[in-house]
Amino acid sequence: MTIFEQFAIKPIINAASAVTRLGGSFMPQQVLDNFCEAARYSFEMDQLQAMASREIAKVTGAEAGLVTAGSASSLTLGSAAIMCGYELARMECLPHVDGKFPDEFVVAREHRNGYDHAVRASGARLVEVGFHEIVASAGVRCAEPWEYAAAFGPRTAGVLFGYGNESQRILPDVVKVAHQHGIPVLVDAAGRVPPRERLRSILATGADLVAMSGGKMIRGPQSTGLLFGRRDLIGSAALQMLDMDDHIELWDPPADLIDKSKLPGMPRHGIGRAHKVSKEEIVALLTALRLSDSGIYDNDVAPATRMLEKIAQALEGSACSTKLTPSPDGEVMPSLEIAVNQARLGRSAMEVCRRLRQGQPSVHVGQRYLYEGRLMLHPMLIRPDDVDTLIDRLRKELTL
Ligand SMILES: *Cc1c(COP(=O)(O)O)cnc(C)c1O
Repeated sequence: MTIFEQFAIKPIINAASAVTRLGGSFMPQQVLDNFCEAARYSFEMDQLQAMASREIAKVTGAEAGLVTAGSASSLTLGSAAIMCGYELARMECLPHVDGKFPDEFVVAREHRNGYDHAVRASGARLVEVGFHEIVASAGVRCAEPWEYAAAFGPRTAGVLFGYGNESQRILPDVVKVAHQHGIPVLVDAAGRVPPRERLRSILATGADLVAMSGGKMIRGPQSTGLLFGRRDLIGSAALQMLDMDDHIELWDPPADLIDKSKLPGMPRHGIGRAHKVSKEEIVALLTALRLSDSGIYDNDVAPATRMLEKIAQALEGSACSTKLTPSPDGEVMPSLEIAVNQARLGRSAMEVCRRLRQGQPSVHVGQRYLYEGRLMLHPMLIRPDDVDTLIDRLRKELTL
């Protein structure tokens, strides 16, 4: 029996790509096979995470790494690590710092987004610098390194940096000014792979910790992420995440992940105990990371491009025009923009999107440009079997 026969749920057609709201990406068969194999054995979880650390280090060039419960989880764990280091009494406080140690993270106002709740969840407080002149159509400049420097003080714990197309240019300078003041930099690069060189290049700016999603384009389990960078910080994050129900006489964490000699005793369960990942997820994510780094996912770009060409052709004569954006680099997926002729159709792009979602089967498209009258099709998670149905649904909603 299929899961659709066993349970009262239907799948959707996902032309929106690996968004969390729609369950993230599809895991490749090898990832699924390794997930199932890991499920049939027991492991010491600190040993498993230490092995993961070595794997992540090989791919990223980092001193150490950790499998987390998502990039958001990496942000909570990373900020907790920056605030606490190896100080057990600090770990025990979180998320209530109450002025006992530095808890401020300096962040550019234009980098603020809903995911920074995950940083605040550790107990950290955000201190904004700069403006958002570009969105306000009031200027051409982003926050600058001197503005960060001016905000540093005795309460500063770290810098939070949102890695994006606009912001990446100044990351090396922000790292430089932060390090001049002895302040570590935590970078949110959740969905920034591909291109896969970013697995290395972001950390190579000198950033102290990088957070990434495992369940987006890396194609690991949706509930996984990566945190990688400085060994002492990764050790702190691991200490605050791993289950600590053991005797100190028996507890023997792998030295390259956690330096036991620096600890006065054993911490209790930390703030990251609620971010646990399973043995299956760790093995599966590492498998996906190897695949992602190998370049094998590039093979999916050409069939995806042909699929979008077929859809574009099938929409000729409907109340829309289409524009295919090819992969810029052979790694990033192509996309198809559908500009709805709203006057001719008598229906806004928002309304078309609503009808696509509510019809049968439900179709989800990229929603970013709806107010500008455009739908986006992202091919990665459109199942080949669903293409004809997708075309039928699009034609129906885009025809008078
Ligand atoms: C998706 C995303 C996150 C959250 O990542 P998860 O792996 O789902 O926890 C954080 N920050 C940004 C910028 C994202 O796009």
